[in-house]
Amino acid sequence: MLKDKAIGIDVGGTNLRAALVSADGAIIKKLKETTTGNVMDALKMAIESLMDDSVVGIGMGVAGLINRKEKKVIISPNIPAINGQDFGGLGGGVPVFIENDASTAALGEMWMGAGRDFESFVLLTLGTGIGGGFIHKGKLLDVAAEAGHMSIEQGGRKCPCGSYGCLETYASARAITGAVTKAIENGAESAVFKDYAGGNIYKLTPEDIYRAAFDGDNLAREALKDAGKYLGIGIANLINIMSPEAVILAGGLIGAWDIYINEAVKEASKRAFKSLSENIKILPASRGDDAGVLGAAHLVFHGEKAYTC
Ligand SMILES: [Zn+2]
Repeated sequence: MLKDKAIGIDVGGTNLRAALVSADGAIIKKLKETTTGNVMDALKMAIESLMDDSVVGIGMGVAGLINRKEKKVIISPNIPAINGQDFGGLGGGVPVFIENDASTAALGEMWMGAGRDFESFVLLTLGTGIGGGFIHKGKLLDVAAEAGHMSIEQGGRKCPCGSYGCLETYASARAITGAVTKAIENGAESAVFKDYAGGNIYKLTPEDIYRAAFDGDNLAREALKDAGKYLGIGIANLINIMSPEAVILAGGLIGAWDIYINEAVKEASKRAFKSLSENIKILPASRGDDAGVLGAAHLVFHGEKAYTC
């Protein structure tokens, strides 16, 4: 059998996605498992069910700070069960590559998605938290890229990373639902509360909030716009530092593009250097949940050549 395929895995806080990927970027087979039970068992099962003689290696994108040389997760704030875990032995004889999940998403979009037309771009994953991946001259920049943890507010909200005022405490899905919940606790009127999540404000999802906003609920709209402004500050900082050709936005929150992202684009264009921002493209990722598994497979096929520094 020709050795020409890779297993790409995306390990997130809720789900693990895995796929068998060909060298030209086609997904041959894919599966999804929950990571709410034992994450390492879910990983082993996924690998077992996709492994065959054509597999040259396994790539993994993991939510958290990783040590790619030692193939270890240093710290994963959203999946504490994998803190300190060594992934190197999971390959059963084939090489294992690990990377941060937003970086593998950036590689996936560069290889087979919205990043194909750009030599350099910044990808942000907008979900429960905010992740970053930086593509520079067609390769992944070998830096921490923790864009969600840039400080944007002096003395701001406490972040799970230990700092204060991080971008993700103002602009992530968790921040948006938190802001709405808090406002309702303080007596604000909102249709979100009455009509969604069975009236339980602690069960509101980001989707409830977009739906309410698009239906004209003022509190939901303001929460999304406020988060969008902070996201715009973060994007302006990234434009000024990285001078990318594009900013690609991924994750569940891009469903609220017309309110949340429009606000971010407005704010970013007010703040970033005109010469750096006037021709920049701010666009949605195109490979959705597949970007992470594709990028992880890309790492297997390219190894150190996937990186620039
Ligand atoms: Zn932080």
